[in-house]
Amino acid sequence: MQGVAWLPRLAYRGRVLPSERTQSSFRIVVAGGGFVGGALALALARLAPKICRVTLVDSVPPNAERPPDGRGLALSPASRNLLNAIGLWPQLEPSAQAMSAIEITDSPLDATLRPNLLGFADESGGDGVKAWLVEAGALLEAIAGAVHADPGVDFIAPDTVQHFQTDAYGASVQMGSGRTLRAALLVAADGKKSKLRERAGIKCIGWSYPQMGIVASVAHERPHNGLAVQHFLPSGPFAILPMKGNRSSIVWTEETDTAKQLVAGDQEVFLSELSRRFGYRLGAISLEGTPRAFPLSFQIARAFVGDRLALIGDSAHVVHPLAGQGLNIGFRDVAALVESITDSARLGLDIGSKTSLARYERWRRFDSAFSGAVMDGMNRLFSNDSAPLRAIRDVGMGLVDRAPSLKRFLIREAAGATGDVPRLLKDEAL
Ligand SMILES: Cc1cc2nc3c(=O)[nH]c(=O)nc-3n(C[C@H](O)[C@H](O)[C@H](O)COP(=O)(O)OP(=O)(O)OC[C@H]3O[C@@H](n4cnc5c(N)ncnc54)[C@H](O)[C@@H]3O)c2cc1C
Repeated sequence: MQGVAWLPRLAYRGRVLPSERTQSSFRIVVAGGGFVGGALALALARLAPKICRVTLVDSVPPNAERPPDGRGLALSPASRNLLNAIGLWPQLEPSAQAMSAIEITDSPLDATLRPNLLGFADESGGDGVKAWLVEAGALLEAIAGAVHADPGVDFIAPDTVQHFQTDAYGASVQMGSGRTLRAALLVAADGKKSKLRERAGIKCIGWSYPQMGIVASVAHERPHNGLAVQHFLPSGPFAILPMKGNRSSIVWTEETDTAKQLVAGDQEVFLSELSRRFGYRLGAISLEGTPRAFPLSFQIARAFVGDRLALIGDSAHVVHPLAGQGLNIGFRDVAALVESITDSARLGLDIGSKTSLARYERWRRFDSAFSGAVMDGMNRLFSNDSAPLRAIRDVGMGLVDRAPSLKRFLIREAAGATGDVPRLLKDEAL
């Protein structure tokens, strides 16, 4: 058994003896040290050290050479607040690019002018930042480095979580190495093919898209001035996201066979196809690194919790990347789970109990399913060339463009500032 930080004798009918609460009473095992699992481990270790002791397990060793990810991740101001609360933002900020305006168009590629369907510039107020662009590799490196260095996190890697059984007092978690850990709560942050979700018998609703997301970094001659562009094309959305310097990250949704051919084929052909879509506003472009194509799917777990189990991040939900929301939704899970855990512990409840987990599920499942459905609907509405649909969406977008209050709402929604926002996302103490 791993240490004594979680002691079954402290739990009596789901309650923790008040005299023992000054010590870390519960052990939480987090399976998966990616963006979301790593952020959760840091949040628990740094913001709730008296409540729990964290063990983080990942299949990849901390100092392993990872293939370059190539993605620029658009993080909402709410996600920035979480990264700030767990102490990572000062390290990330110098290389993060503020996105201050967004243009949306669905013009044909050969149009001389690409008129805006919808534009967002000054609606958000405050510092006007709609999102921060952070390189995926830099974010993962910052999370892994912090997790590795933090004495509050027992980081076990490489190893995997394989099975678990529960009883009235906790979960016994079996690892690939043969080791067994005892925990009050097991968190599945093991990505979209989550083994733990499968072991718990939790099914998903969803489907694969006949599209892939091609990602690449592009250098250009002229400055982007913080402008992001979303160009809806019949094969899928093509996004240009501003990065630090005269650079942008692209997320190019393309039909699967074409996407595979493009990334595996000649780079000159790739660059010429990319240039047609990118346009010439920022001058000549060149590729940085090798483009990659990611399979795309929509997936929502039928339950976000099980017996002493909580699902977070892509193990709970996978959404189309057209609005760059997947990780932002995962960070919202992190903030909601940390708040549910700390509030339960303060009330003297067992943090792995059904009552405690039910709050997390109520908080996150509908919200994630709703966001996933909106992305799915937008992808269906825009990824086609049907004239009637085009007319409907152009009228709809035109109306939104003329309604400042609706635009403000959409900005707040994308920024993670609507609904029941967890405290850590609002820059508030736990
Ligand atoms: C093309 C594309 C562009 C995107 N752009 C954006 C964007 O701009 N903004 C945004 O918010 N989101 C974006 N996303 C979504 C985002 O990338 C995901 O939501 C995010 O990576 C999910 O992180 P995660 O930690 O949940 O899962 P993962 O990153 O998949 O991490 C899972 C971790 O679990 C580990 N693991 C797996 N199995 C086990 C096991 N049994 N035991 C222990 N460890 C295990 C793995 O090693 C891995 O480290 C994009 C996605 C795509 C495909």
